[in-house]
Amino acid sequence: MQYQSTRGAKLGGFCDILLQGLAPDGGLAMPSNIPHISGKTLESWRGLDYADLAYAVMHPFIGDIPEDDLRAILRRTYTTDAFGSADITPLTRLGDSNTYLLELSNGPSLAFKDIAMQFLGNAMAYVLETRDARLNILGATSGDTGSAAEYAMRGKDRINVFMLSPHGRMSLFQQAQMYSLQDKNIHNIAIEGVFDDCQDLVKAVNSDAAYKTAYHIGAVNSINWARVLAQSVYYFKAWLALGLPAGSPVDFCVPSGNFGNIYAGYLAKQMGLPIAHLIIATNENDVLYEALQTGHYRARPAAEVEKTSSPSMDIGKASNFERYLYNLSGNNAAQTAARWKTLVADGAIDLQPLMDAIRASGFTAGRSDHAARLATIRETYQVYNRLIDPHTADGVYVAKHWRAENKSERPLICLETALPAKFETTVREATGLRAPRPAQFEDIEEAPRRVTVMANDVSALKDYITAALA
Ligand SMILES: *Cc1c(COP(=O)(O)O)cnc(C)c1O
Repeated sequence: MQYQSTRGAKLGGFCDILLQGLAPDGGLAMPSNIPHISGKTLESWRGLDYADLAYAVMHPFIGDIPEDDLRAILRRTYTTDAFGSADITPLTRLGDSNTYLLELSNGPSLAFKDIAMQFLGNAMAYVLETRDARLNILGATSGDTGSAAEYAMRGKDRINVFMLSPHGRMSLFQQAQMYSLQDKNIHNIAIEGVFDDCQDLVKAVNSDAAYKTAYHIGAVNSINWARVLAQSVYYFKAWLALGLPAGSPVDFCVPSGNFGNIYAGYLAKQMGLPIAHLIIATNENDVLYEALQTGHYRARPAAEVEKTSSPSMDIGKASNFERYLYNLSGNNAAQTAARWKTLVADGAIDLQPLMDAIRASGFTAGRSDHAARLATIRETYQVYNRLIDPHTADGVYVAKHWRAENKSERPLICLETALPAKFETTVREATGLRAPRPAQFEDIEEAPRRVTVMANDVSALKDYITAALA
């Protein structure tokens, strides 16, 4: 399988794009075609365990890793040890309703990003080994992405992680989760500034092309194709777990920020998984909800992004949306590039000409807010005896309303994107309860910390990286 950018550039094979961030033309990597899976093939996957299912779904996109090696990478990744059960992503029903929760947050950092990131860690280590190369991941985090990346890369010989976080601005639990890692290759750097300052520092280092090349600086951000691909597997897993007759359609509702998770569902649908609707659940930062309601996609500057109680969805633009528009245009790179020029020039894209295609593709959207989130956490606990986190609550809330409005009886699967333990304050506000923690995190705030506090200064950051790699 060969890859090209949504804006046209040729990018090479899977192993090449695995190590790249944005394409040189600013676009996102896409496969030259999306293989179709017949109903018969899908039926033959019913008995597969997670790692074998992952192989079945992913291998057509990965021509450049031999079968035995790819199977071994997936076996190393999807273990009971890392994800808490042989199921990896258990599907549980809410009472006797026709709504299900797909548990994606039982991995090492307690959020769904682990599922793709753990694969990314093992796949990158493999490719670096075969190429005798090294990678120094430089990233900025306000919480979840950083910890998922660190837990995926810790202890990997050829990889270092330099993760910038805003000093004192993450929850105590999130700080402890990252800063307690003692691995030599994990560098926590707390910047005296806000998250945007951290992002600007990453951009500044990356804009120094000579430094970037000399120090093998890379990224693991949410536009990485391997993450999207690895996430498409659990849509198949969920559908298979329902045990429905062949071809039965289901709906998915996905708490969305950068549109990576739900785009993985769209990938599964394009491959032939019987998905009727993909329901986008946004929080108060409702870029995608607004886009589908009005036909007007408007990116928001950082100053306009609200801080909410589902913080991992606080975004001003949905990076992976470009992939979807590329597919809608019939994989037309020139059209996609032109649309993005308009976005840069006007801060907005007119989706009116695409609205019929958007509806036909199964996408729809709803919006949640703080009050709805709290009420949903409380109600889900009272009615179903299930404690959910604020992001999952946005999905459950939007799903419930969508279902009522559309009088739908189809099975509906809500993706659980984090454990409530990660967002204790909001869970307590909603229910008065302290969310239970997995044993390994019980007293994590007390654990010794390994973190360097640093001024918001690009030369200090470069000096630190240079010294660490010397
Ligand atoms: C990252 C994240 C999201 C948003 O996922 P996208 O792929 O960016 O749409 C939702 N919930 C949680 C808990 C997350 O960590």
